[in-house]
Amino acid sequence: MTTLCTGSGGFIAGWLVKALLERGEQVRAVDNRPFAEWKQVHDGAENMRLDLSDRWNCGVAVEDIDVVYHLAADTGGMEYLASHRAATMLNALIDTNMVLAAREAAVERFYFASSSCVYPVSRQQSHVPAVLAEDWVWPADPEPAYGLSKLHTEQLLLFAAQEWGMTVRIGRHQSVFGEFGWYDGGREKVPTAICRKIAHAKLAGSHEIGLWGDGTQARDFVYVTDAVACILGITASGYGQPLNLGTGTATTVAELVAITSEIAGWPVTVRRLDGPAGVEGVQARSTDTTLVSAHAAWKPEVSLRDGVALTYRWVFDQVAAL
Ligand code: NAD
Repeated sequence: MTTLCTGSGGFIAGWLVKALLERGEQVRAVDNRPFAEWKQVHDGAENMRLDLSDRWNCGVAVEDIDVVYHLAADTGGMEYLASHRAATMLNALIDTNMVLAAREAAVERFYFASSSCVYPVSRQQSHVPAVLAEDWVWPADPEPAYGLSKLHTEQLLLFAAQEWGMTVRIGRHQSVFGEFGWYDGGREKVPTAICRKIAHAKLAGSHEIGLWGDGTQARDFVYVTDAVACILGITASGYGQPLNLGTGTATTVAELVAITSEIAGWPVTVRRLDGPAGVEGVQARSTDTTLVSAHAAWKPEVSLRDGVALTYRWVFDQVAAL
């Protein structure tokens, strides 16, 4: 099997390439970043630097490929998404060009990394976490740019399956975290941001960290190796509709701080910071995992605590080396 993994210079796809190579697959790994900036470079893959917003480059990327794992996207945490709406809408350009190139190359299967941001914002504003089920997407009220562009591509793929006979698989990624994730620079998400803040505090001898929000925001956190196993399960499945890639458990930011600080062996108090509008995102969500368990034969294996322990150690080493 020859596979293409887009966004391979990034967090999740870097781990996906590793898993595919371990399964003995031939892998083409593509990203538009210089190789020196890739989170992981795997020598066993055919590594290519291509900008996939260009239609011609998408044709190069999919040449002689059986299965496409399309993860390339301009993305980040809520601060990044709320302040880069035009840029993240342009993900639709990358996705559209990739779908057209995959159709032309008659690839066997096309996996698309969608997001929990496709779900209606208005249904996630209670302190009681919304348990998102796949059919909640309509009537649509997604995160206004990044989420809308993901919803656009989901729909494009579902129609491409219906009208062009493409075999498509769609995973709606929840909050994936782990080593090699962004932990600073603006694209970081909550778990790695908390790890960085506690690592900094520990190194500086301080017991206070600043965080946006009041700590009650809740998300469904998935450790990255579990996320990769789920991507592989969804892609191999016989199910062509979107599936939640989540654990079904909601954890608040305050709980995540408590877990991380215990792992660090460093007690902290949290000072509330007032961030720019939109950075706190929706109030609370987790996921209905009924369909993904049934169709992708998947369940998470790494506990939140174990995943945070691995992530904290890695982030601490990065911060300490600066
Ligand atoms: P990431 O930012 O670490 O990786 C994305 C990669 O795509 C980056 O390396 C980037 O350089 C590359 N890319 C961007 N534009 C490109 C272009 N024009 N051509 C080629 N490459 C390009 O993100 P991630 O966290 O690994 O996310 C992977 C996928 O999963 C994305 O599609 C993201 O939207 C989706 N997702 C992730 C999460 C999460 O919690 N990490 C949650 C929901 C959805």
